[in-house]
Amino acid sequence: MAEYSYFGPIAELVSMDALPLKGAIQENALGLLTRQGVLARNGMIQEIGEHEKLLPFAKKAGAEIHIFDTPLVALPGLIDCHTHICFSGSRARDYALRNAGSTYLEIAKAGGGIWDTVTRTRQASEGELIRGITTRVGKHISQGVTTIEVKSGYGLTTEEELKMLRAIRKAGDSVPADLISTCLAAHMLPRDYAGSSKEYLEMLGNELLPRITEEGLSKRVDAFVEEGAFSPSDILPYLEKAKGLGFEITVHADQFTTGGSQVAIDCQALSADHLEASTSKEVSALAQSDVVAVALPGASLGLGCGFTPARALLDAGASLAIASDHNPGSAPMGQLLTQAAILGAREKLTTPEVFAGITFRAAAALNLSDRGILRKGMLTDMVLFPTNDHREILYHQGSLQPVYTIKKGKIVYSKPEA
Ligand SMILES: [Zn+2]
Repeated sequence: MAEYSYFGPIAELVSMDALPLKGAIQENALGLLTRQGVLARNGMIQEIGEHEKLLPFAKKAGAEIHIFDTPLVALPGLIDCHTHICFSGSRARDYALRNAGSTYLEIAKAGGGIWDTVTRTRQASEGELIRGITTRVGKHISQGVTTIEVKSGYGLTTEEELKMLRAIRKAGDSVPADLISTCLAAHMLPRDYAGSSKEYLEMLGNELLPRITEEGLSKRVDAFVEEGAFSPSDILPYLEKAKGLGFEITVHADQFTTGGSQVAIDCQALSADHLEASTSKEVSALAQSDVVAVALPGASLGLGCGFTPARALLDAGASLAIASDHNPGSAPMGQLLTQAAILGAREKLTTPEVFAGITFRAAAALNLSDRGILRKGMLTDMVLFPTNDHREILYHQGSLQPVYTIKKGKIVYSKPEA
């Protein structure tokens, strides 16, 4: 039997409908609807319309009715298309050392860096990893995030990577947000691997990726293309192999040096993420491709370095998504909305450009066509903020907390005092 739910009145509904997937968006381009109701049927949007007209219809359908007596602004449920929230341990020591002037190498020598997280994640049981993911997902949901990409990449052996991906899947079964898992076994060459980068990547392609497919653990493969990680020439055969096995590709690109974004373009990746080091050459190449550029302001804030050239990417015609990169090393904050608002202020992005980056353009980076827009037939994933003016949301830089997060037609978070 069909299950209906109804939400209204919504003072201002920001549907994000009918906006371009690529390029700049004018400040006044948002089609704002006032005093709306949303009717969900089996988790999908059945109808959006004037509250007074839609409410009687919802009642007749036997919907679970949610009436709001204070002004609320609705956005599509936020989408965080790049995180590393499956990990164990803390890197607070690294953070303090870095801010006190230690170099990357000095921190690594003191036992810090990615390898520290690898060691702790390997020591953790699957259950511990699941609990860590679940806690972090809960925080994201309270900020209005309803879809979260989660990468592996702290296991770096076949069995440890599988452990991480299983933990992500099991956590995903019990949390109300959708978790989209990605295999990032090509994060770094593990220190304890007795072989070259090329041999490690061949092992991943021949051994790990087929097991992931067998167990149905992930459809996505990511790689860190960077000096000190993997070179473009080493990584391309691995990504081609992954594509051949049916995986979708995404790339950590141009974070400190360029080269990664061209890899993403060459293997028709869904997205190229980071891009802090991209120059006008990379910006225009990305704009001419269908690769979504993903800015990760949380990493810029965590490392105290420059931001992704978001304005230049949009002006050149690229698609721009914004994600939290939530990870224990460079981006421990994990507050998508705060980071998107800060990027917007720093890079001079319009309100719709920022909203697009955390809704339908982030959905495109994950190749998901059923979310990121409030429209009939899409998922009823929605976040409601306590205001009657959508501009208040970015103005408060994340401190205006949602009062409700709705996932597939159900309230999955409500602010305690709401
Ligand atoms: Zn990352």
